[in-house]
Amino acid sequence: MVYIRGNALDYDRWEEEGATGWDYAHCLPYFKKSTHHSLGENEYRGGNGPVGVTRPLMNNPLYHAFIEAGKQAGYPYTDDFNGFQQEGFGPMDSTTWNGMRSSASVAHLHQQSAARTNLLAETGCLVTRVLIEGGRAVGVEYRHDGQLKIARAAKSVILSGGAINSPQILMLSGVGPANHLKYHGINVQVDLPGVGQNLQDHLEVCVQQECTKSISLYKWQQPKNMVKIALRWFYNQGGLCGSSHFEAAGFIRSRAGVSHPDIQYHFVPCQVLDHGRGTITHEAFQVHVGQMRQKSRGYLRLQSNDPTQHPLIDPNYLDTEQDRWEMRQCIKLTREIFNQPAFDEFRGKELRPGLHCNADDELDQFVRQFGDSTYHPSCTCKMGTDSLSVVDPVSLNVHGVSNLKVVDASIMPSIVSGNLNGPVLMMAEKAADVIRGRKMLKPAYNVPVYHPPTLQTQR
Ligand SMILES: Cc1cc2nc3c(=O)[nH]c(=O)nc-3n(C[C@H](O)[C@H](O)[C@H](O)COP(=O)(O)OP(=O)(O)OC[C@H]3O[C@@H](n4cnc5c(N)ncnc54)[C@H](O)[C@@H]3O)c2cc1C
Repeated sequence: MVYIRGNALDYDRWEEEGATGWDYAHCLPYFKKSTHHSLGENEYRGGNGPVGVTRPLMNNPLYHAFIEAGKQAGYPYTDDFNGFQQEGFGPMDSTTWNGMRSSASVAHLHQQSAARTNLLAETGCLVTRVLIEGGRAVGVEYRHDGQLKIARAAKSVILSGGAINSPQILMLSGVGPANHLKYHGINVQVDLPGVGQNLQDHLEVCVQQECTKSISLYKWQQPKNMVKIALRWFYNQGGLCGSSHFEAAGFIRSRAGVSHPDIQYHFVPCQVLDHGRGTITHEAFQVHVGQMRQKSRGYLRLQSNDPTQHPLIDPNYLDTEQDRWEMRQCIKLTREIFNQPAFDEFRGKELRPGLHCNADDELDQFVRQFGDSTYHPSCTCKMGTDSLSVVDPVSLNVHGVSNLKVVDASIMPSIVSGNLNGPVLMMAEKAADVIRGRKMLKPAYNVPVYHPPTLQTQR
């Protein structure tokens, strides 16, 4: 439910990487079109788009301590990570509305399209391949209720299976690296070596600090009390369950000279173990911290030509020394922030990594053991015109196949410096205008964005 767009420079980089028409000026109007904001419309925030974005209440004092500590460590304050200034510490918006998740499904299917007679959504289906005849996509084959079915397309097929499954389905359909497809006995329709390559994700670790006051969410993480806050939420969607608890955040640069933030903090006023599956042991607070633009590139391949078999995925995290250095830097800079005076009244002992973990090789070991995906796989069918690109940035057609488009996180040329849901919603709105042949929204050329005044000399 975190709503973060990334940095304006990410989209200008997309354009440089070959995604013509995807610079910030062309994307900003679609970020606005996709959302409405609890604080109302401005140059950056949406006014009447389908997805609700809400400014957090930040009732817990630990959120304020975190932002204050960021300022004490020398970083700027920002009142909107998605507005003029991404860099700094401040409140983090969420895709919630009136205490409920404002997902693409809620915002588009349930609220906008439910009454449409020209929309049929079938659930519980597994798409097995796109049907391609004479270089043209004519429909999809899918499994439903144990039967193999076909849906034929009058105009085009739009694949939105996500960064793992869109390339898998393309390869199962004969679109991908020819030798790899032949190896699995798949008839090659188009030799596109980039399908499944260029996999990018955000790696993160949690740095946890014991909290000396009973103000963290610890009490509410006990089963008896979890029931209480859940009932409260069912009553009127209020209380603690009306928040994702990622209400404060930070975006900083790992070193001087880096053009825009390459480290992201998600702060939570509690301990989270094993993605919420572990038993909580302490009153604590923590950050999920990770690098935003790693150099390592992964890939995915078919395990077999059976669509029910998961593809083989190698994210290839930490392949470069720069990536390993940045992850160490994430932990070192967090310690500096947690040690600021704003945390004096709350700071207990460091729970994770723990003070025994100091030397670079110890930090590397910690990152290898506890580093996790932020769940941002992307870029595996990238837009562009180079030999490894898969999708044309202007038409969104798959190279070499007419009437077949891909719209999801897989078509990002490179990962953006933030969470991916907001950018995917933006891309979908823009793609809708492209596909329907509508006039595109006017680019926002003159909307200012922040440039650090001491870029070359200060972090
Ligand atoms: C646990 C978790 C937490 C996250 N938290 C955040 C967050 O707080 N903020 C944020 O911005 N981002 C978050 N993300 C990332 C964000 O959800 C994704 O980046 C985004 O949803 C990607 O959109 P997409 O359309 O590319 O793919 P998806 O949203 O994954 O959509 C792909 C769809 O295709 C379907 N599909 C795939 N293959 C087939 C097939 N063969 N047949 C039929 N259907 C198929 C899938 O079921 C899925 O519904 C989170 C992700 C996860 C997993």
